[in-house]
Amino acid sequence: MPRVRGSELQSKIMTLPVTQSDSSRTYQVVIIGGGPAGLTAGLYCARSKFSALLIEQGIIGGKITYAERVENYPGFPRSISGIELGQLIHDQAAGYGLETLLAEVTKVMPRRKHNLVSSSEGEFVAESIIIASGSQFRKLDVPGEDAYVGKGVSYCATCDGPLFKGKTVAVIGGGDSALAEALHLAKFASSVKVIHRRSQLRASKILEERAAAEHKIEFIWDTVVARIEGDGVVGQLRLRNTKNDKISMLELAGVFVAVGSKPNTSQWRGLLPLDEEGYIITNEMMETTVPGVFGAGDVRHNSARQAITAAGDGATAAISAARFLSF
Ligand code: NAP
Repeated sequence: MPRVRGSELQSKIMTLPVTQSDSSRTYQVVIIGGGPAGLTAGLYCARSKFSALLIEQGIIGGKITYAERVENYPGFPRSISGIELGQLIHDQAAGYGLETLLAEVTKVMPRRKHNLVSSSEGEFVAESIIIASGSQFRKLDVPGEDAYVGKGVSYCATCDGPLFKGKTVAVIGGGDSALAEALHLAKFASSVKVIHRRSQLRASKILEERAAAEHKIEFIWDTVVARIEGDGVVGQLRLRNTKNDKISMLELAGVFVAVGSKPNTSQWRGLLPLDEEGYIITNEMMETTVPGVFGAGDVRHNSARQAITAAGDGATAAISAARFLSF
């Protein structure tokens, strides 16, 4: 993922207990992805006494680990950090015997009850597969973005926000992620400009109200980034007004890109039906058109992309996998 992680966050994540698995083994269920969907699927599978392996290529907890506070996951009235939530679900699943492997899945060959899953840490035979590989952050794709990643361009305010104490930063986007990032950055930065390509947000009302009440946050409407410029590190943005094409410059130290996500499904192209954006098409039982292969969470077409709905998808996928395995 094109994320630059703060070292403090990284070291916390590295302390997560992860069970290494034997390679070349057969599992009744292999789960690809360790976010709330995959972990919950793992919990259900392991608790039902199926041999289950979860393969995660990045961080246990997945994207939820980027959330400083999760306020809308039931059962945590005082909220919980995304890292803690991921760790708790992992620990709960591991307690019932879920095996977890940190590896990259490189190839999958679906073959009914003998699916072959190749990874950077070995090959596994999977009687069923639950794909919960989530999504990755969408890039702006403007000149300067790649060159300044880690030098002022970031995709994670929780990770990199403290680096911008007393500085001016911008957040690009108008959804929940953009406002959550802006609110977090307001704790450190002297000024946070939210740059949105339209004049209407698509964020939830509660975040919109909080952002409006935060005096450090200022909205720049109907504007897109044309270029990210600097001299070794980010120094300014070249902006274009979408209504009148007027160009303006904004001096700042950091740019946080929060323009949505795209699914991690490249290895499923040609193997499973995907929608036009690449999300996996399933029915309400998380079944794909390939028997024994299920999709769950953010990777799924029409997912609500919330931690709790991903967890629900994971539970449903595990129940469907159990039914498939019993025939
Ligand atoms: P999102 O809702 O898809 O919003 C993406 C934003 O980026 C939109 O405002 C979009 O503009 C803008 N955008 C897209 N491509 C762009 C480009 N090339 N240049 C400039 N702007 C661009 O994505 P998200 O905010 O990551 O949210 C994803 C899901 O996660 C949502 O379901 C959201 O509710 C959830 N989420 C929830 C929370 C929470 O606290 N509950 C926090 C984060 C995310 P347009 O509006 O013009 O399309």
